[in-house]
Amino acid sequence: MKGMKKISMLALITTLGLHAVQDFTSTSRCVLYVEQQKIPNIGFAKQQIYAYMKEGFYNDDMRCIAQEIKAYLNTFDPVKAPYAIVFDIDETLLSNWPYNKQNDFAYHHDKIIEWERSAQAPAIKAIKEVYDLAREKGFTLFLISGRRCFLQEKTIENLHKVGIEGWKEVICRPDDLQDVSRVPFKSGARRAIEKQGYIIIANIGDQESDLAGGYALKAFKLPNPMYYIP
Ligand SMILES: [Mg+2]
Repeated sequence: MKGMKKISMLALITTLGLHAVQDFTSTSRCVLYVEQQKIPNIGFAKQQIYAYMKEGFYNDDMRCIAQEIKAYLNTFDPVKAPYAIVFDIDETLLSNWPYNKQNDFAYHHDKIIEWERSAQAPAIKAIKEVYDLAREKGFTLFLISGRRCFLQEKTIENLHKVGIEGWKEVICRPDDLQDVSRVPFKSGARRAIEKQGYIIIANIGDQESDLAGGYALKAFKLPNPMYYIP
């Protein structure tokens, strides 16, 4: 009957190793907006994300993309042209999973600043391997981050701590820049790099706003189910 919805997520839940919910059939005939629009249940979404992060699926996804990027980079010879690669920082080279786990994904501006100032973010291993390969091969490396410039020193301390070295420049977001979207800042920074004569062969980041706006031959989108930056 129309409007009667069979809810069966048992298989998915079992796969993810989450708490099982009961199968049931709703007696309501209402066509619900929440279901039409597929608005997720936040409790269930969080459980899925915890499972995704903790049970190795996130790392598997990262490793898969890292393999693709490595294969792509191996088709370029940095001796032949001024090839550059752009990396984002958060959820690309550094992981904020410890903060998100501790705060149950809540956005607390002051706590995030405190966390970033602590310079304790671990490296994302698969992408650090891409970075190390790119460095070893002699590509010019740029890091473009949405982190404000007042955090730059601590961010660089954090990068050193996890063994990320040898970049040409770490470009931070000016403290007074009022922006809704990161796209003008990030694409503008890439344009400035290309104006210096570099060819950006790969741009790697976890947000669409890291990658939109051009000035790179290829863009590689990494997974991030934890937050969205326009
Ligand atoms: Mg990021």
